[in-house]
Amino acid sequence: MFSERTLYIVATPIGNRDDLSARAIDVLQHVDRIYAEDTRHSLPLLRHHGIETRTWTLHEHNEESRIAMVIEHLNAGSSAALITDAGTPLISDPGFRLVRACHAAGVRVSPVPGACAVTAALSVSGLPTDRFQFVGFPPAKSNARQTWFRPLAQLPHTLVIYESPHRIIESLTDLASVFGPERPMTLARELTKRFETLLYGTVEEILEAVQADANQQRGEFVLIVGGVATLSDTDGDALPSVDLDKTLSVLLQHLPVKTVARCAAELYGVTKKTAYDRALELQRR
Ligand code: SAM
Repeated sequence: MFSERTLYIVATPIGNRDDLSARAIDVLQHVDRIYAEDTRHSLPLLRHHGIETRTWTLHEHNEESRIAMVIEHLNAGSSAALITDAGTPLISDPGFRLVRACHAAGVRVSPVPGACAVTAALSVSGLPTDRFQFVGFPPAKSNARQTWFRPLAQLPHTLVIYESPHRIIESLTDLASVFGPERPMTLARELTKRFETLLYGTVEEILEAVQADANQQRGEFVLIVGGVATLSDTDGDALPSVDLDKTLSVLLQHLPVKTVARCAAELYGVTKKTAYDRALELQRR
């Protein structure tokens, strides 16, 4: 399983240090070098698992300048692993430029999968997971954040957003104003850690709960927001958002109901039958 001249992209825990897989430990023990986002942060985890491999830093600010060195080392027949402070490298973390350069240089890149806050939060969110979009961290300023949220609020599928404790209240406030207070969401805080908390409800309910309790404003957060289709149901193909109704009503004035249903299904990601039944309902009114 273990190969030389390979860069392993190794997922590390997002909180609970025992969430490092047996294969991750094996690879980290056997590679020639480990590139870590912050070596001081990762050393306690590595030592806890008996990993003595030498570490080198590779972070946002030195990634570009490290690339030539890493590739030269790998081309000489060595192996290396890339880890970050938590979870899967490249997911809102450094590594993209290095992986792209390895591909260009013909160096093998191989994943050692494991923890990731996106999938951990989705798996317990209770929101549809058949289709979702990960959008990373929102902009820091409220105006930019609202502009960034606006097109996302129209999407039919689940959204996964990262947020820091400094901006959790502001982001939830902007979510309520752009997505509407009734939009279903889940707030996943401190996953796999001592104070792990999951809050399920509408954006407004969760904003109120977080505002009311300073402890809920601490730690690391993933916000999972239901798509427009979840506004009136939670089975992932539910009826109807205000926008869907509006689109159907306008189209019905110009097109046969079957065509309307086909267009709406394509636009909103609902089934043709769902759109057709809703169009008939609107026509009857
Ligand atoms: N690469 C990581 C991953 O695979 O999830 C993400 C790194 S990103 C710099 C850090 C963000 O991930 C945090 O601000 C938070 O939004 C989310 N996160 C990481 N660990 C988490 C945890 N235990 N609980 C909730 N969110 C977490």
